[in-house]
Amino acid sequence: MANRIIIITNLPGDADTLTAVLGSARDGPFEVEWVRHLSTALKRLRMGGIDAILVDLSLPDSHGIATFDQLFAAAPHTPIMTLSVEDDALAVEAVQRGAQGYLLKEHLVSSLVPQTLRNIIQRKAVEDAFYKEKARAEIALNSIGDAVICTDMEGIIDYLNIAAEKMTGWSRLDASGHALGDVFKIINGITGKPERNTVELVLEVNKSIGLPPDTVLVRRDGSHVSIEDSAAPINDWDGQPTGVVIVFHDVSLAQSMAKKMAHLAQHDFLTNLPNRALLNDRIAHAIILSKRNNSQLAVLFLDLDNFKHINDSLGHATGDKLLQSVTQRLSGCVRGSDTVSRQGGDEFVILLAEGKSEEDAAATANKILGVLALPHSIDQDELYVTTSIGISIYPADGEDAETLIKSADIAMYHAKEKGRNNFQFFRSSMNIRAVERQLIEANLRTALEKNEFVLHYQPKVNLDTGLVTGVEALLRWIHPDLGMVLPARFMRIAEDCGLIVPIGRWVLLEACTQAKRWVDAGLMPISIAVNISAVEFRQKHFFEGVRTILNDTGLDPGYLELEITESVLMRDAQASAAILQELKNMGVQLAVDDFGTGYSSLSYLERFPIDVLKIDQSFVRDIAIDTDNGIIVSAVIGMGNNLKLRVIAEGIENQAQLSFLKSQNCEEGQGYFFSHPITADQFYELRSIGNCQIGGI
Ligand code: C2E
Ligand code: MG
Ligand code: MG
Repeated sequence: MANRIIIITNLPGDADTLTAVLGSARDGPFEVEWVRHLSTALKRLRMGGIDAILVDLSLPDSHGIATFDQLFAAAPHTPIMTLSVEDDALAVEAVQRGAQGYLLKEHLVSSLVPQTLRNIIQRKAVEDAFYKEKARAEIALNSIGDAVICTDMEGIIDYLNIAAEKMTGWSRLDASGHALGDVFKIINGITGKPERNTVELVLEVNKSIGLPPDTVLVRRDGSHVSIEDSAAPINDWDGQPTGVVIVFHDVSLAQSMAKKMAHLAQHDFLTNLPNRALLNDRIAHAIILSKRNNSQLAVLFLDLDNFKHINDSLGHATGDKLLQSVTQRLSGCVRGSDTVSRQGGDEFVILLAEGKSEEDAAATANKILGVLALPHSIDQDELYVTTSIGISIYPADGEDAETLIKSADIAMYHAKEKGRNNFQFFRSSMNIRAVERQLIEANLRTALEKNEFVLHYQPKVNLDTGLVTGVEALLRWIHPDLGMVLPARFMRIAEDCGLIVPIGRWVLLEACTQAKRWVDAGLMPISIAVNISAVEFRQKHFFEGVRTILNDTGLDPGYLELEITESVLMRDAQASAAILQELKNMGVQLAVDDFGTGYSSLSYLERFPIDVLKIDQSFVRDIAIDTDNGIIVSAVIGMGNNLKLRVIAEGIENQAQLSFLKSQNCEEGQGYFFSHPITADQFYELRSIGNCQIGGI
């Protein structure tokens, strides 16, 4: 398309000359418009499409440099040339203010005029394009998040984008002309030593490079910020470097996030203690040190006693707070070089590093037992918790983290079996027990549904008459491979894993059903005793369960006797008394089993609505040869009689024991001397044939 020129002059001669010259230009004619007034020209320019302006600065409506100024303001991107005479100061001034040049009036006819115009139009177009390109680059560089700094070959800064200004604290104006090292001061974040000059590094290899990790930028105000960066040479068209561009960004957020993630991966959320993974690492590390120093280390495995009960009765929120309180106390019992970790639930593992002997480990375990047992104030409540601790020692009990933890775990179970709230060292014999425990637990889980339980029955006998006064139901597990398994082998495990609750419910139902069957078969009704474990007794719906079973089976509550050990009563005396009273109101008989093995205070018995005292068989066993036991037994019989309680001696095996008990006015007894626990059928036989009278009385 032809270039369009506007000629602004009041001199028709000049206008004609120019129109002719331009209209017949050799390399293509120009489109020419002529106007006389500035105002007309300005109006025309606003419409657009003009490629260059030729103006005579003296017009009918404007004179002098003001004419140029107004045109320039109206069309800043359109090249302007003035028409002037030789030595025209005004034309020079116009050039200084942005005009592209001037045409001397005496040369208007020259063929150079179209060529000159063509040149300035092209040059202006190139300048515009370049300007636009630069503006676009500038916008792009300022809108990216990365900071960009450019330098020349000497490392003198000639450009900073906005992000770089913010990161360094230097404005572009302040920074330009400075050496890169003044503005982009970088050090190694770990050693604090200055990093090498980036410009030198880049120019040395003449290709783009990433800077070392852990680079820290020291900002203008002296503060530090972690950055990640790269730098590259800026090459000209010939591929020759002319400077360096450095691009970097703030990685402190990403770094702190990564640190947080790493922490989370290695720590327990609730207590912020190291978790299993981190503990394993620490133990492995401690083992390496111990090997080098030829020393020992200890691993303590802790499991809180009865924590499940607290969690179930007071809620998880309280349980969580208790775990946090425990965490604090545990941390206070060890040194900074030791590790307290939480394995999940109420299990903690402690690594005592740095050459700990067995004595040190025992001392720490003792300290823990003492400190944990103190009341924990949680939500205005004082909670009590104890723990059982197992201890393993490197290298005797394991040469790697896994074995050491497992050994300590096994020893912990041993501590539980020893009555909780104590610590035990691992012994290799425990391994056998652990295997046994696993075997029992795994099989126990399916025993109920496989119908592997039966009840055996042991008569209670009137020591004077030999008449059967009652019967105790005793649980037996008939396992296809293990044969008959006695309660001693599985009861603790059933309690620990909560299986005792459904099993106990089965026992109660079976015992009541059997008692009813005997009555229906024509036997005289006698009371049937069922053993209730602590875990069952503390179950929320225990009382309702008993009532439902009595209702369902139709057994008269007066013939059901529940046997509870004295430690169960003592643990939470008030709550126990309330439950016992409810049972009592329903008409159920209550017996204290294994009496004398627990807290042994007769006076507390008055607080409970008890009917029966069962003297533990350990007192009966040596009754005749051990005078102490004899004295205890006669005292218990005396007290029981005073309190109007029935007293039953357990474990009577021979005539001597029987005679002694009779001499002390003990009314009832139970033991192999009369009968072992027997099946329901055998018991039926015994009662119908033996006319209810057994034993050699
Ligand atoms: P326990 O209630 O004190 O039961 C008496 C235990 O002594 C029974 O052992 C019985 O077989 C045994 N025994 C009876 N007479 C003699 C004797 O003359 N000499 C000796 N040495 N032992 C005798 P068993 O059946 O092995 O039960 C042990 C314990 O297991 C019971 O002690 C009771 O605490 C618990 N248990 C048994 N059955 C159940 C049950 O159904 N539920 C609950 N929760 N516990 C039960
Ligand atoms: Mg019993
Ligand atoms: Mg007993």
